[in-house]
Amino acid sequence: MRRGPPSLLLSAAFGLLLAWRLPERPVAAEEHKEISALAARIEGLSDRSRLIFDLTGLPPVAAHPVANPPRIIVDLPETLFRMEANAGLSTSDKLIKSYRYGTFAPGRSRVVIDLAGPAKILKADSEVAVGGPRLVIELAPTSAAHFAATVAEQARPQPFDPPSPTPQAAQSPTDKPMVVIDPGHGGVDMGATGKNGELEKDVVIEFARALRHKIEDAGRARVLLTRDRDTFLPLAERVRIARENNASLFISIHADTLAATAVEGATVYTVSERASDAVAARMAEKENLADQAAGLESKAEAEEVGDILFELTRRETRAYSRQFSHSLISFWKEVGALNKNPSRSAGFVVLKAFDVPSVLLELGYLSSDKDLVRLTSQEWRERAAQKTADAIDAYFSAHSREARAPAGSLRPQ
Ligand SMILES: [Zn+2]
Repeated sequence: MRRGPPSLLLSAAFGLLLAWRLPERPVAAEEHKEISALAARIEGLSDRSRLIFDLTGLPPVAAHPVANPPRIIVDLPETLFRMEANAGLSTSDKLIKSYRYGTFAPGRSRVVIDLAGPAKILKADSEVAVGGPRLVIELAPTSAAHFAATVAEQARPQPFDPPSPTPQAAQSPTDKPMVVIDPGHGGVDMGATGKNGELEKDVVIEFARALRHKIEDAGRARVLLTRDRDTFLPLAERVRIARENNASLFISIHADTLAATAVEGATVYTVSERASDAVAARMAEKENLADQAAGLESKAEAEEVGDILFELTRRETRAYSRQFSHSLISFWKEVGALNKNPSRSAGFVVLKAFDVPSVLLELGYLSSDKDLVRLTSQEWRERAAQKTADAIDAYFSAHSREARAPAGSLRPQ
């Protein structure tokens, strides 16, 4: 393409337009590669609260409020948080209930502050203090009406940049079926937490990696992880990765917490319009909020509507999902750590690909002492991952014909 002044002018104008459209967008991470956060603390003053992070540099900062529940979102270029991941899980401050931090998208990090009540942002910036550079977020209580007005004023589309490159399976000359494993949560969305600071996002990625090795060792299927690092991924993106890679099976891995600490064991969930029971309904509701935990606006999912072929495919997909779920439960019995009602269903957003058989494997409860021992034991993880891989193997043996022609072949394009 010929490059001349007109196109330069055009791109400059386009750049200006972008800058105007996205004024809060942090600058590219390359310019701030070295910034780490070393420690965080809260200063509660009589009329305001300050959340302070000690930094190694001065990044650009953008903050905005979101409602339901009230939170403050602070966007930064990618920052290395070299501190306890559970540092902000609960505080004694009267305004800042808790805070979380982590990667949000490639090159971008985020701090999410959960508020005890409506607050206004007095300051959100990096600055040089006596002790070195720091990030200061200063908040003061405000009226519910003022908070709502600020949220409405600042409401803007929040573009999510998908990870680049999108995980793509290496091209394989074989016709082996593809299994997509989805470690839940990640980055700024930590998921459930255990009493010693164990994080669901870490427990599930370790399990997913162990499972990948077991599947690769068995050699019957190809395998891809939706995320192989500690980063946030929207629910819809996880489904998209499965569909784009023509997955024959999608397994989302989670671990929950409950107030009832005696409840233990693994559960396998499939998708259904109506929840199988109250526990499943509550679980789906909680997991479907994952995008919100990272500060993405949750928008009502448009229910997919389709023709007869779509409906047939969806019905067939759900039958396969249930078959795999039964197989998985029978193999897990040998690991001896099943919930007393291990087969449940509810409206999980992440299981809604109409043409990819999908289950959500809840490994256990971080709130149960017995489960916590299992979930953090490498020996247990290896055994449980092996049983899961065996269940996958058995499923594909039983459906070798379907595996060669995944349901995705019916997909309208
Ligand atoms: Zn989860």
